[in-house]
Amino acid sequence: MRLKEWFASCHRNLPWRETRDPYSIWVSEVMLQQTQVNTVIPYYRRFTERFSTVLLLADADFQEALKLWEGLGYYSRIRNFHKAAGRVRDLFGGVVPQDWMSFRALPGVGDYIAAAVLSIASGQPYAVVDGNVKRVLARLLLMNMPTNHPTSHKVYLEPALQLLDTGDPGLHNQALMELGAMVCKPAAPLCETCPVQTDCMAFRLRQTVNYPHRLKKPDTPLYAVAVGVVYRDDRVLITQRKPDGLLGGLWEFPGGKIREMESAEDACIREIREETGISVCVQSHLTQVRHAYTHFKIVMDVFICRYLEGSVRLNGPCDYRWAAMDELERYPFPGANRKFMKLLKL
Ligand code: SF4
Repeated sequence: MRLKEWFASCHRNLPWRETRDPYSIWVSEVMLQQTQVNTVIPYYRRFTERFSTVLLLADADFQEALKLWEGLGYYSRIRNFHKAAGRVRDLFGGVVPQDWMSFRALPGVGDYIAAAVLSIASGQPYAVVDGNVKRVLARLLLMNMPTNHPTSHKVYLEPALQLLDTGDPGLHNQALMELGAMVCKPAAPLCETCPVQTDCMAFRLRQTVNYPHRLKKPDTPLYAVAVGVVYRDDRVLITQRKPDGLLGGLWEFPGGKIREMESAEDACIREIREETGISVCVQSHLTQVRHAYTHFKIVMDVFICRYLEGSVRLNGPCDYRWAAMDELERYPFPGANRKFMKLLKL
């Protein structure tokens, strides 16, 4: 009760909280996985403005949906979401299914998204367990299971279900997530303002700094990469990544990993030849950018190259264009490419 009252008076006004439409709530939950609320807001507005219904998304070209996702990262989310929208059109007549079995079976819908959408949109008694909820529960109940352990979802689901307010599960889930995001913060929980302080074991035992437990992440590897902006007259070569896998469907400038004892220039020339079949020469070093992905980081040397000979025959990527500079904005690019593309316009 105290939790819901606190939520009613203290919650943030977020655009997806103004609707009970399952599709709109689904959009927000897909975007919010691994991504901060403030980053998501403008993406959510643009996406739901263009694709206001699941049918509009299902009928759209995937590249258009991907372009609206550009910069949000974790691109398998939009790949699966676009596929799922197609299934909703083909199997459910364009109505997002509201039973667990059907909805959970759609591409990209895991336990978290299913529980969030079904509880918020149609008040079904499913408990949401995300990182925020696990942190609150670990402190509230002094739970030792590391919150990033692969099987932690199952362990935290049990108390989450016991605490669930079945009178309004959607509101309860949102309140618990909001409490984790705004009050029970990872480093310094704001216990003095917490509505569940009197029930919290970690607070009572002065253990808040020791909870939740987390497994230490292995060090992230760093890869050195060389990339070329290849000019042929006033056009540049861009290639499209294969549809599945990391950054699937996005466009990029060709290149790849630098081998041991190889110079960045040589790697750039070799990678472009292996990937596309054309010969290039390096004219200048444009810049060096650093970028972090989930499981690795890259340091990328970017070169301005000139086309020498050969016709493009793709080995790795699935499509290519010789694009004019003013056409580049039409294509979705990964964040690492966007970091240096602004220099090309100078
Ligand atoms: S009292 Fe502090 S540690 Fe306990 S749930 Fe509230 S904010 Fe988190």
